[in-house]
Amino acid sequence: MRAVDLRSDTTTLPTDEMRQAIAGAELGDDVFQGDPTVNRLQDLAAQRMGKEAALLVPSGTMANLASILTHCGRGAEVILGNRAHTYKYEKGGISAYGGIHSTQILNQDDGTMRLEDIKAAIRGKDDHFPVTSLICLENTHNVCGGAPLSVAYTKEVANLARAHNIKLHIDGARIFNAAVAQGVEVQELVEDADSVSFCMSKGLGAPVGSVICGSKDFIDQARGIRKGLGGGMRQAGIIAAAGIVALETMVDRLQEDHTNAQLLAEGIADLPDIILDPKSIKTNIIYFDLDNSAMESADFLTVLAAKGIQFFDTGPRRFRMVTHNDISAEDVLYTIESFKSTLTTDSAP
Ligand SMILES: *Cc1c(COP(=O)(O)O)cnc(C)c1O
Repeated sequence: MRAVDLRSDTTTLPTDEMRQAIAGAELGDDVFQGDPTVNRLQDLAAQRMGKEAALLVPSGTMANLASILTHCGRGAEVILGNRAHTYKYEKGGISAYGGIHSTQILNQDDGTMRLEDIKAAIRGKDDHFPVTSLICLENTHNVCGGAPLSVAYTKEVANLARAHNIKLHIDGARIFNAAVAQGVEVQELVEDADSVSFCMSKGLGAPVGSVICGSKDFIDQARGIRKGLGGGMRQAGIIAAAGIVALETMVDRLQEDHTNAQLLAEGIADLPDIILDPKSIKTNIIYFDLDNSAMESADFLTVLAAKGIQFFDTGPRRFRMVTHNDISAEDVLYTIESFKSTLTTDSAP
């Protein structure tokens, strides 16, 4: 049976070229900044992002945590979206481990927060208030259907932040998807941010790792925080080697994932009970609702899992599917056919 894993782009396995690069990587002790392969990855990442310096970390969660801890002291306040990954899915780490207070602003369906909402949340000077120190954007926005934020919007938020002496961090776990989808250089999307994190282990296909980019001073501080969080790794060149291949060979192909997501969305949108507007799909993430009282979410997942197709439910009758390097156009056609047979003939499990 065909296996189609649409749970996440984190399920991608390393390419053969990555495995070879890992096997041949020149190594050293990265806590002593002496791993040449890590240094090469960090230089490459900084250059791709147009920043002075970069830092390899084990995960996207640690990338955001270390970045936010570097920008904010205890009791500082960060502004982020109410559907932000950092708010919803990072174990509350910024408050648990950093003593950082957050205020959540309504995320619009396009992943933005309205500028007037951000402005209204910025605190004045008052002994009652925490000090607003940081704004976080997420690009692409995971829970908002993989929506890419534009260069113009990012600039507007950055200008607002700068005018109030507030820093801007971008959770760019899928920033390369955002760049490819909009036909812009990734540097343009992060030009005005003080820091950006991106994942190598999602659409870029590397097995492990994220990278933080920013000024040299920022990265020097973040390196110390990474050590304190337990993220200092020794011969981390085995991770970095795959990351270099990811940056060099896997960025342009993200377009295929977007094309496949569009194909999949168009293929299922008109099926009975599926609520989905294919035009809303801009990158590799598809959310849809199932308006079918005859079938529970769990049963729907079970029927499709029996056909080899895996994805997640994310809410009552709401589901997410993610396309990636290990999903082919044939997998998409098979998925569409399987949805069709599930929802039109054998509708009861
Ligand atoms: C996946 C993801 C992260 C965290 O990445 P992990 O490597 O799983 O910790 C952070 N932000 C966003 C938007 C993500 O999608």
